[in-house]
Amino acid sequence: MREFDGHELVVFGHDVPTGLRAIIAIHSTVLGPAAGGCRMWPYAGTAEAVADVLRLSRGMSYKNAMAGLEFGGGKAVILADPRKKTPELLEAFGRFVDSLAGRYVTAEDVGTTTADMTNVARATRFVAGLGRAPGEAGGDPGPKTALGVFLGIKAAVKFRLGRADLGGVTVALQGAGGVGYHLAGLLAAEGAQLRVADVRPAAVQRVCDEFRARAVPVEQVLFEDVDVLSPCALGAVLTAHSMPRLRARIVAGAANNQLAQGQDGGGLAAAGILYAPDYVINAGGIISVSREYRGGATEAQVIADIQAIPVRLTEIFERARRENRTTNAVADQMARERLGQPGRALVA
Ligand code: NAD
Repeated sequence: MREFDGHELVVFGHDVPTGLRAIIAIHSTVLGPAAGGCRMWPYAGTAEAVADVLRLSRGMSYKNAMAGLEFGGGKAVILADPRKKTPELLEAFGRFVDSLAGRYVTAEDVGTTTADMTNVARATRFVAGLGRAPGEAGGDPGPKTALGVFLGIKAAVKFRLGRADLGGVTVALQGAGGVGYHLAGLLAAEGAQLRVADVRPAAVQRVCDEFRARAVPVEQVLFEDVDVLSPCALGAVLTAHSMPRLRARIVAGAANNQLAQGQDGGGLAAAGILYAPDYVINAGGIISVSREYRGGATEAQVIADIQAIPVRLTEIFERARRENRTTNAVADQMARERLGQPGRALVA
């Protein structure tokens, strides 16, 4: 399986009474316990779920390394429709996490919420993204991811368009969920003009009503003539098929694994499109939950850490320009150096 990249451990969990079927993948614990969220998704089959968890867990190694966190990379997937979840199923997942004795720490991802993590926490202490008191670090990672993406978009706009503010800058937002909704609010407050698409009409309506966004069709959003395209739904949206049709000057969004293949970054660069590597720009949530997990941190410390994201991105943009390489190749190399694997080949 080409997604396998020297992962340390991949385990399957099955709990008959609750029907839980889950997989945990630990890509690397070189920098610390493997941290990454739990995705709940109605996968078409086991092979698809394994491929997803392998790709996502490797991405977490790179993301945590680039964010300077003392955590390795891991991820979990629950093979089920999130509409069918029960507290018992999540508690069973907590037992599965606990069986790894802290080698993997879980949190929210697509299909799981803060309330779900509270159920997971009934069976394990190796979990973050729980409810918190005002001013404390942690809680729902979505708004913190949105803040990092917002600051990253500002850095990309400055680098590519030479503009210090977002007044009148056009942004096409694919996905108005936990991250997309909060990102829309931050962008609109700075005067950006938003176009939005989501497969859930109510999510689109909310962003249009609250932030004066314009709805665009789901099949069209990637190809809008805008300054910034912000993929905030699912991964692999930048493909050999979609990329020639992009009209944005910048691609900068929260979705994990936006490039279907690593080498696709070359297509964007050749078309003059600045790509903000996904695992660099979307690290705000893991920065927040990792601070929560370690304990004793404040929300102000989390925000200060997130403010390093645009600095890191600008360094990557400048190095890519200087060395005539793609931004994703530069980021991958920096991450691998931090993981002690400088020569390792990229697996798409
Ligand atoms: P979410 O599930 O809350 O929102 C995703 C939204 O995308 C939903 O509203 C969904 O209806 C919509 N969507 C799905 N398919 C779509 C399509 N084809 N076109 C348009 N919209 C579509 O998830 P989220 O927490 O907002 O995360 C968004 C992305 O960011 C995911 O890829 C996630 O892995 C990534 N991410 C999230 C976080 C976090 O803190 N939540 C952190 C890092 C990365």
